[in-house]
Amino acid sequence: MKNLWQDQQARQCRNDPLALRVYTSRLLGSDAGLVMHGGGNTSVKVRRSDPYGEDTEVLYVKGSGRDLATIEKSGFAPVRMDHLLKMARFSTLDDREMVRLQRLAMLDSSAPNPSVEAILHAIIPFRFVDHTHADSVVTVTNTPDGKKYIRDIYGGKVLVIPYVMPGFILAKYIYKLTRDLDWPKVEGIILLNHGIFTFADDAKTSYESMIRLVSRAERFLKTKTRIASVSSSAQLVNLTDLAKIRREVSLSRGQSVVAILDGNPDQVRFSSREDIRSVSQRGPLTPDHVIRTKPKPVVIGEDITAGIKRYVQQYRKYFRRNTKKGLVCLEPSPQWALWPGRGTIAFGRSLKDARIVADITAHTTRAIERAQALGGWSVLSEHDIFEMEYWVLEQAKLAKKDHEPVLQGKIALVTGAAGGIGRACVETFLAQGAVVAALDIKDEVEDMFAAPDVLGLKADVTDHSQLRAAVEATVRRFGGLDIVVANAGIFPPSERLEAIQDAAWAKSMRVNLESSQKLLKFAIPFLKLGNDPSVVLIASKNVPAPGPGAGAYSVAKAGLTQLGRVAALELAEHNIRVNILHPNAVFDTAIWTRDVLRTRAKSYGLSVADYKRSNLLKTEVTSADVAALAAALASPLFAKTTGAQIPVDGGNERVI
Ligand code: ZN
Repeated sequence: MKNLWQDQQARQCRNDPLALRVYTSRLLGSDAGLVMHGGGNTSVKVRRSDPYGEDTEVLYVKGSGRDLATIEKSGFAPVRMDHLLKMARFSTLDDREMVRLQRLAMLDSSAPNPSVEAILHAIIPFRFVDHTHADSVVTVTNTPDGKKYIRDIYGGKVLVIPYVMPGFILAKYIYKLTRDLDWPKVEGIILLNHGIFTFADDAKTSYESMIRLVSRAERFLKTKTRIASVSSSAQLVNLTDLAKIRREVSLSRGQSVVAILDGNPDQVRFSSREDIRSVSQRGPLTPDHVIRTKPKPVVIGEDITAGIKRYVQQYRKYFRRNTKKGLVCLEPSPQWALWPGRGTIAFGRSLKDARIVADITAHTTRAIERAQALGGWSVLSEHDIFEMEYWVLEQAKLAKKDHEPVLQGKIALVTGAAGGIGRACVETFLAQGAVVAALDIKDEVEDMFAAPDVLGLKADVTDHSQLRAAVEATVRRFGGLDIVVANAGIFPPSERLEAIQDAAWAKSMRVNLESSQKLLKFAIPFLKLGNDPSVVLIASKNVPAPGPGAGAYSVAKAGLTQLGRVAALELAEHNIRVNILHPNAVFDTAIWTRDVLRTRAKSYGLSVADYKRSNLLKTEVTSADVAALAAALASPLFAKTTGAQIPVDGGNERVI
């Protein structure tokens, strides 16, 4: 464990205790071996004036749900110390009442809710208090002889606390235990199956105690356990099976999820263990993780569907075994899966959520391996895990998601994504909650979308192996495919039929028609396993209302339309909807340069502005308008529509 303290950085905090508190909190937060995704908490005690000008001792404690890695001063809640110490003297205190009293004791009502450990921080009589869920410490304690090992590692220099429920119960336990304690002789507190506290009157000492104590546990694990570095060879990942796993999890959740397959050698080795069905089912690394990961993962077997159904049944049974009055069963589907020989899969409503699960999973499997080598992975009782999973204060940490966008958890693929309608589709789908594979022949597509939810893929849609590889890369990255927008197209130079060059004709057919047929061919096996799958073909007004001189374009787009109609017929039995858009005069695309616009407008004797609005509604059609309709077609709004051809042209009397 690396000590990241830098005097120069600390000096910039100019002895401002809260600034120093932010600094070392971030140091702790930056090491995933200490805390992950909102885990752990820190505090500092200062004297300051309250709003009435009276000198008061205040505990600045991490706000509930804040992340130490990115915390700011405003992420700490200022709470009156005397109130917190009074609360510690209660014999019992209901969780909700504790939250209410803590809020009542705050000096700033706009600050976040104080951490559930605020009372415990107040009891520890040092200015700086640091608490983490360090992997190595928890791993050692998650073994049958954990308590003995902790003694071996630390001697009598730490206070060892058996597992008790965090919050008031833990604070009360430590309050009673430490009333006569000679604090200066104690270097830290080890909470079995939970984590570690260190403390000091200055930020540096408290932080460095954490690093020192955790490093000792790391060294102990290193000398006592040897993990085979040889990794078993990964089995080939069948992408159809991956899509099937994701679909089954989505179905069991009643919502689309993104699935991240982690096939790195460590995860493959872990997933290949002979005892995987036993060790993986015992429980999480720390109880704090259970709200993200549930108590256990699903282990994928021969029959994917049956395995996931069984998981859901077992989760419901677990709920019934442990529930108390008033509790409602959380959604029962797995948050992660072990796929023997292939690695682990993390599920999430968004890529961000799935990545959090993936991070925790990677730490968990490592901890289980080490603990198994140290005598066995032995975690809390089912009852303790349940109490934590259904603890109101933990559930409150998960952001409320009442108003999720309509395409949340959906996986889309868009061709011709570097500009115009394609780019607008990527942006619209993204804004509506989907993750998107953005394909284009241009290099820039690979990094023009800064969002991690976009997979930019350079691919020539007329090169069938590139197209197939792009579809597969999409499934591998996100776990499946739900929406395909075939948009890539070209507009060949205007030529009368007798003058069209063979090459120009053939190219238009390849790009505007054949590429979509191939795209469908490669995508259909995955769309069949998608969630409310949908195909949107971007055709043209030229289909219902062709113009002279655009034969190569119009004929290809007419073919594309017919392809869509046949696809709608063939794919209906798989509930895949196929719809066709006929845009016209979308001028904010690469084809319509300012010069072209001016020349075309002039040839009609119109100003550019009038030319742009030369339709029935006298309105301008933009790429964003077309994208909004494409997104709507992929949404439940059009759940009962397939084989439709919809104009986006401001109204055209020839089309009507
Ligand atoms: Zn904790």
